[in-house]
Amino acid sequence: MRLIVAEKNISARRIAEILAGGKKMTEKKDAGVSVYTFGDTTAIGLRGHVVEIDFEPGYANWRSETATPRALIDAKTIKVATEKRIVSLLQKLARHADRITIATDFDTEGELIGKEAFELIRAANKNVPVDRARFSAITSQEITAAFSHATDLDFALASAGEARQIVDLVWGASLTRFISLAARRGGQNILSVGRVQSPTLAMIVDREKEIASFVPEKYWQLSLVTMKGDDKVEARHTHGRFRDKAEAELARDRTKDPLVVTDMKEGTKIDRSPSPFDTTTYIVAAARLGYSAANAMRIAEDLYMNGFISYPRTDNTVYPATLDISGILKALKPSPFAKDIEWIQKNRRAVPTRGKKSSTDHPPIHPTAPATRQMLGDDAFPIYELVLRRFLATLAPDATWQTLKVLFNAGGEEYTATGGRLLEPGWHTVYPFSEAKETILPVFRVGENLQILSKSFEEKETQPPARYTQSKLIQRMEELGLGTKSTRHEVIAKLVSRKYVEGNPLRPTLVGRVVIESLEQYADTITKPDMTQTLEAHMQLIKQKQRTREDVVKESREMLHKAFDQLESHERVIGDEIRNRTAEEMTLGACPVCKTGTLAIKHLRGSTQFIGCSHYPDCTFNIGLPLAQWGFAVRTDEVCKKHGLNFVRLVRKGARPWDIGCPLCHHISSNRESLLEIPSLTPDLIDKLESRHIFTASDIAKTESPYLATILDVPADHAQRIIRDAGTAMELLRKRSECRKFMRNHIAPRKGRSYSVIVKSLASAGIRDIPALGKADPAVLRSAGISEKETSDLIDGARAHCAARIFKEIGIPAISIKKYIEAGIFSPEEFCTMQPLQIAEKTGMSPDTVFRHAGLVCKHLNRPAPVKISKTRIEKGKKELLAIRGITEAMIRKLSSAGIHDTETLLSADPRDAATRSGIPEATILNCQALAKKRLDNAVIEL
Ligand SMILES: [Zn+2]
Ligand SMILES: [Zn+2]
Repeated sequence: MRLIVAEKNISARRIAEILAGGKKMTEKKDAGVSVYTFGDTTAIGLRGHVVEIDFEPGYANWRSETATPRALIDAKTIKVATEKRIVSLLQKLARHADRITIATDFDTEGELIGKEAFELIRAANKNVPVDRARFSAITSQEITAAFSHATDLDFALASAGEARQIVDLVWGASLTRFISLAARRGGQNILSVGRVQSPTLAMIVDREKEIASFVPEKYWQLSLVTMKGDDKVEARHTHGRFRDKAEAELARDRTKDPLVVTDMKEGTKIDRSPSPFDTTTYIVAAARLGYSAANAMRIAEDLYMNGFISYPRTDNTVYPATLDISGILKALKPSPFAKDIEWIQKNRRAVPTRGKKSSTDHPPIHPTAPATRQMLGDDAFPIYELVLRRFLATLAPDATWQTLKVLFNAGGEEYTATGGRLLEPGWHTVYPFSEAKETILPVFRVGENLQILSKSFEEKETQPPARYTQSKLIQRMEELGLGTKSTRHEVIAKLVSRKYVEGNPLRPTLVGRVVIESLEQYADTITKPDMTQTLEAHMQLIKQKQRTREDVVKESREMLHKAFDQLESHERVIGDEIRNRTAEEMTLGACPVCKTGTLAIKHLRGSTQFIGCSHYPDCTFNIGLPLAQWGFAVRTDEVCKKHGLNFVRLVRKGARPWDIGCPLCHHISSNRESLLEIPSLTPDLIDKLESRHIFTASDIAKTESPYLATILDVPADHAQRIIRDAGTAMELLRKRSECRKFMRNHIAPRKGRSYSVIVKSLASAGIRDIPALGKADPAVLRSAGISEKETSDLIDGARAHCAARIFKEIGIPAISIKKYIEAGIFSPEEFCTMQPLQIAEKTGMSPDTVFRHAGLVCKHLNRPAPVKISKTRIEKGKKELLAIRGITEAMIRKLSSAGIHDTETLLSADPRDAATRSGIPEATILNCQALAKKRLDNAVIEL
């Protein structure tokens, strides 16, 4: 069987269809992965990379003492399967294949994906021949040619890709960890740093600084309007921008009739046809049509996979000689562009245009098959049309303009007007995306006198440099050698998702600015493009087999160590700086209680988070928030109209954000419900309390009754009652929240089942705290929507929880409590029903310890403590028992459960009771007792 391995499922299907050549092709699913078969050939698609590199185990803990951020630099890397089903299917098929062709995309990334597949194949089948098909478009011509001229994998090219993968992992992971830990940020809030990402962000930050520090300068411009026949003509002063207002005013005042035509210059200008699309010029052109860089790439890739255009990741702007342009034109003819194609066929330029960059991997982006709007949809069709028309434009003749420049003189001041007329539209005929605006001037005669209709004197200001649009940024990244044609748009998308930049054109956020400025100050190699350019150059050398992957990675690691030398010596300063400067990110607005403090979200170590006042401890106002595991609290831009506070949102990876809204509105409404349960309060009184910023039962409990009586306008005894009731309510609330917390720890969150609803429904059944839960009727829990399994877990958990609490109060250490609970001892009473030796046996603890604990438990229950048996006595007893025929070590362990540890206790035991407790048959016990008695009697006789 011949196996074909394509980069994606969709390309596998297209390739199989093409190679089947009309023969029957079947599609089957194996473990959810499509397998295409025709004749003796099978094709499957990967999902891009099916393995990824990661550090070997032992580096997962960010706070580890040994695996520090710096340790990641030299950590060993391993490959881990990310698409397990595809990997095992590939290996299964490889075992039975007698020839395998790798048909991944033809570029560094594709070669690396191919090499990864190769390694997986080799692990499953040592001998099967593996070759490589390379193509730039999934068309029948290219595919057929590629498969009939299959070559070898280019391991040097793949190595270059691997080097980049390792360097990216190492730089990204170590620096991200370092900066995040220094700034004490974790979870959702980490500060990511990356090899390409950080220099790119630095460009955006630097541009913003230029804009901020830009000082606009005023300038003035002069122009006039005259009339020639029926045509209005505008002429500008030849001085251009006047920096000096007085000078401009003088020129304006000197401008007087008549306006004399002094010169006319006619000429022609060639307007070159555009060059073929590479990835960057394509993204820029697509941006003009309103497509974001990421979107443009996604659509182009889709069109490529479906065979409509060639591979869209290319740096090449020169069509290779082998490209059959006439063939393509012919193939494209049956499409909505038939007329344009026909025009090109008739008017084609001798040689297609060419850009500055020529590489051998892929041709420039060009169409490969005809398509209609119906086939592609409204989103993709304009992109297809753009690519097709660009292709036609590169084959079209240049356009020619006739230009005309007229010079005027008015009172000694010179003015000029320029015009342009399209003589030969050339490529503009087929490419409407760049405007060809004509300005047609009437015919003038030198020496002719005209009248000035109006003069205009405009005051203007110089403008700061523009912010980067996505496509401008991609162009700039390319100029600086940052990233590759395949990754640039992804890097920008990452900066957006990390909340480092926002908007289009792109603006840095506060965090983005602070991180870059800290890095620039302490380790600017990370923010400068130089390092990344060096790596790109080194990758070229790997491709040309002039350097090895190991060598390049080693050099990069050394560079990173140098950066760490600087970073580590300034760790505290960097951390403090980032934290202090980003504090603003967490502030919400003025404190409603003290009015002068500022409320801000606070994150503590662990997952506690709350909103507190900057005047703490003078102002203790605070609002609790759910634990960070339910979402990391961040501020949003929305502001509460009533309270002037920013809204709060909880964000969690992989989950929809939880919008809390105005934290104060939330605080009030969630507490109002429990205040309404306080019998001595009425809604009216609650309103009065709220107006005095008393929102919770605990707020009430803290007030003095005379003050409360005054603000609520109630008698003193009523105020006292309210305070008392609030205390009771707090206790109830504490129990309820403890119960809810307990529930959260024991039953999984599920859609449509809220913990507070469960807690409420249990409360109405009289289950209001954890001890009650431990004694609850399972049926009640089941009717509150808790499953059978969860019910028994919950009850056991509640019993263990209560047991742990009481044992702890008694003074038993946590480690022992755990063992008692595991042995099924849930209360002091249960503890006392058992023999200490039996407990020691069951828990594996030493009898000494158990006796000590038994003393504590009995004291708590006011009972006499059991008599302690010493270790030596136990050893001696054991010897005695072993001497009795038929008693084994195993039996001794069982007997100890019944409190039998020597001949004496054996003889005095009640056989039936001992049998139940030890699990040894009563008959055996009776037999042992008889033997023991006999031994004892004999011993007496011997005496
Ligand atoms: Zn305050
Ligand atoms: Zn509010």
